[in-house]
Amino acid sequence: MSSHQTIATDKVANESHQPYIQVGVSACLVGDNVRYNGGHTQSRLCLDTLSQCFTFITFCPEVEAGFGIPRPTMRLIGDPASPTLVFSNNNTSDLTAQLVKGFEKKLPTMGHLDGYILMKNSPSCGLERVKVYQPNGHPHSIRTMGVFAKALKQQYPLLPIEEEGRLNDDELYDNFLLRVFAYSNFRKEVFEQPSLQNLIAFHSRYKYLIMAHNQDKYRSLGRLLGGKEKIALTALINSYFNDFIEALSKPASRKNHTNTLFHILGYLKGNLSSIAREHIIDIIHNYNNGLTPLTTPLTLLKHHLMQHGSEYIKDQRYFEPYPDKISPMIQYC
Ligand code: SF4
Repeated sequence: MSSHQTIATDKVANESHQPYIQVGVSACLVGDNVRYNGGHTQSRLCLDTLSQCFTFITFCPEVEAGFGIPRPTMRLIGDPASPTLVFSNNNTSDLTAQLVKGFEKKLPTMGHLDGYILMKNSPSCGLERVKVYQPNGHPHSIRTMGVFAKALKQQYPLLPIEEEGRLNDDELYDNFLLRVFAYSNFRKEVFEQPSLQNLIAFHSRYKYLIMAHNQDKYRSLGRLLGGKEKIALTALINSYFNDFIEALSKPASRKNHTNTLFHILGYLKGNLSSIAREHIIDIIHNYNNGLTPLTTPLTLLKHHLMQHGSEYIKDQRYFEPYPDKISPMIQYC
């Protein structure tokens, strides 16, 4: 569950303009009537909430491939590692090549996206758990990815991709959002203005977010920037980006958040009475023991950091990895 709150002032979508973060989405999720039956599977989460910060770029691989609306339903058959797309009522119709031909020109033009939200269970768009039917009429015990989802992931292995259904889980929702914003920020702050200085400044702002997600990567990224090895700037940036995105790929654990909160508390040394300090320590222990949400110690730390913290610690994106207005704490409480 997220409880990140605002200290850092990320450059976010200008309220009066289109949000600058562009996210790809299965067209049926935003209400386009592109499904096999001419309908849609509109997602309120996408339309009401995420659209406040994302400009959605819609795409339907089946329509792009010319299968038409309406069209017969499709499914995957054969080997789950390399399935074949067919019409559900005709196992002999191999449609895989037609679908691939429909999206293969479009795929390389999606490099400007900072994330992608896919429709679950679809033989084209499903990100995982897609059924692969066998000659006995039953699905294989191994599930797979849709044909388009697999190609998307191969083309953009670091791109944050998630199924819309999984975004109803607070932890996964939080993790997807922070990855999309991290991906976007890195592109703007480092890839578009590549310099060692910008890379180090980026790392400084993300330091405690990385620490909360992956302590091994936190150490190895620090070593990478330590400059012991002579690496060309482009290789250094690419290597950093790869490990950085990997570090954020899983939600942060309670143990790692606790460790990070104690590190941040260290920045208040000398500015707190012993009673105030003990109180914060108790609250962090309560969070660690599952007695209070992360928002409680974060809010308390934030309150004190606003008064006594350095610009460096106030600027940490750990406090607001994405805008509060799309936080799960606001959406679901
Ligand atoms: S192919 Fe994808 S975008 Fe098109 S209707 Fe199916 S799930 Fe939706």
